[in-house]
Amino acid sequence: MKNLLAIAMTTASALSLNAADHKDFNYHVDRFADIEVLRYEVPGFSELTPAQKEMIYYLSQAAQAGRDIIWDQNGRYNLPIRNLFENIYTAYSGPRDSKDFKAFEEYLKRLWFSNGIYHHYSNDKFKPEFSRAFLEEQIAALPSDKKPADQATLLEVIFNPDLLTKKVNQDGDADIVATSAGNLYEGVTQAEVEDYYNALKKPGDPTPVSYGLNARVVKKDGKVTEQTYHLAGLYGPAIAQIVYWLDKAKGVAENEAQAAWIQKLIDYYITGDLRLFDEYSILWVDDTKSDIDFVNGFIESYNDPLGMTGSWESYVNFKNHKSSARTEAISANAQWFEDHSPVDPRFRKPEVKGVTAKVITAAQLGGDAYPSTAIGINLPNANWIRSSHGSKSVTLENITEAYEMASHGNGFNEEFVIDEPTRKLMEEWLYLTDMLHTDLHECLGHGSGRLLPDTDPDALKEHGSALEEARADLFALYYLADPKLQEIGVLPDPEAYKAEYYKYMLNGLMTQLYRIEPGKDVEEAHMRNRQLIAAYVLDKGKKGNAVQLVKKGGKTFVKINDYKRMREILGELLAEIQRIKSEGDYKAGDALIRKYAVKVDPQLHAEVIERYSHLDIPPYRGFVNPTYTPVYDADGKIVDVEISYTESYPEQQLRLSRDFSTL
Ligand code: ZN
Repeated sequence: MKNLLAIAMTTASALSLNAADHKDFNYHVDRFADIEVLRYEVPGFSELTPAQKEMIYYLSQAAQAGRDIIWDQNGRYNLPIRNLFENIYTAYSGPRDSKDFKAFEEYLKRLWFSNGIYHHYSNDKFKPEFSRAFLEEQIAALPSDKKPADQATLLEVIFNPDLLTKKVNQDGDADIVATSAGNLYEGVTQAEVEDYYNALKKPGDPTPVSYGLNARVVKKDGKVTEQTYHLAGLYGPAIAQIVYWLDKAKGVAENEAQAAWIQKLIDYYITGDLRLFDEYSILWVDDTKSDIDFVNGFIESYNDPLGMTGSWESYVNFKNHKSSARTEAISANAQWFEDHSPVDPRFRKPEVKGVTAKVITAAQLGGDAYPSTAIGINLPNANWIRSSHGSKSVTLENITEAYEMASHGNGFNEEFVIDEPTRKLMEEWLYLTDMLHTDLHECLGHGSGRLLPDTDPDALKEHGSALEEARADLFALYYLADPKLQEIGVLPDPEAYKAEYYKYMLNGLMTQLYRIEPGKDVEEAHMRNRQLIAAYVLDKGKKGNAVQLVKKGGKTFVKINDYKRMREILGELLAEIQRIKSEGDYKAGDALIRKYAVKVDPQLHAEVIERYSHLDIPPYRGFVNPTYTPVYDADGKIVDVEISYTESYPEQQLRLSRDFSTL
């Protein structure tokens, strides 16, 4: 599970950051459509040992080697469309400032950003702003070996708005498998997929594998069957490259435990055996000694309407020892937090196992985590492993820092925050409370609670992701206001939590609407989660005016009169959502989502978009990676690795296509 909070975070609150340390670093890389591409710094890389740097180099190669997998998972025409567009982009000799070419270039930049033709957040297909005639002309001008094999189909997919319209459809009134355009299923209905997996699941199995995690489901000779992702199966050529680089990394591993889980991951990639993936996950979670760490695999299931198949992603990172003192204080008290949570004791964990948390420095992002990334991750996702072996939770501090540094002076607070005292509170505390929110969300929130013995972990179906994110956010918000945080020394001021509460309500009720097109509903799981919580608090907080939306000078503002009451309401909602999860109460979860999380007030929506239009703030941001260049000695052995931050966004994308086209 991942926490995406900071991608909505456009507030500037840099007090805790020492801006002088970063004054020579240029965070801004590119800007187009609704996107800004940033660059992140990797502080501490030069202090790593040569062997650690070498390992990061190999892992960064493995993180890039799987790129084509996510492109293909996101839609079956994505790779041929990317090839076609890059061929035109590099061969084009016409005027680069013509209207058609500029629109073409923007489309390609969006394509790169989303790893395909669907918006990375709304899941809607991009609408080309260049003409069909322009694209046909460019194709005609290509040499014959660069022309697409099936030009007519690609043009249809690009230009026909009614064909393959949405990557993930979560509208529970439709067949969400048949109507989702992602490439995780073909020719099967939702009922057929559900029947297929229900037949595989053994009732009462205490250690079920993550069914469907590494498979595409298709119909073959009239029968529903899986195409498994593994070395000799689907995506084999990409997996071969990943395995090659992972094996190199294993050769310079920091210790035996780390080498052992890398080997287990390799074995799983070779066979596709989900049992091996569970064994790997357990070894990985148990390794708390290594400084270098990574995720590389089919992990998060947000791109699957049924929440089963993992999107390919990679994060390469190393531990930030200084900031990890904060998360270690939190995880050391995990049992206390569990025991004092406002949920029914039947749904609490009697014994919280192995919640480990650390602050990390991201060194490479890949697959579904690139260019748009999370700022916190908690893995593994398998419920039984989490309850019997614990989970590993990380906060990506250098990514959060890059967002913050890039947001200086953007005018957001002045436009949207109700008054000067609230702005001051946010400027003073939001950087720290945001980071703590991520720590608590990942380390405690996702790790908290338990299912009743007979509850199917997939019972909440298309609402599973949104409700799980809400559960983790509520846990974090509830405890941000707890005096325990002062007692364990992670948050000095007992009033600081108010900065996060205000920001959360503002974002959930208003500012995140900026990312939605007029007339559309809220779709993405994290956005639904945030609106669910904020709208619920507003609804229940109306009584006694604890929380309100008020008008000032014709503009709408969030006003929080009673922060203590707001915390109580958060606790009530946490208890209810934990009950829904523990009992697998789909009906109640569906009702909550429909009442609070989906519909948008069109007037408020228009107002938010209008107010944003006066500020130069992109709704979405992501990153280019630094590049790593090995330094060899006379015998061809790597003796050092150099890091550089010079690639532009198109340069990086074109290099990836040149060096890592595997499928
Ligand atoms: Zn999460």
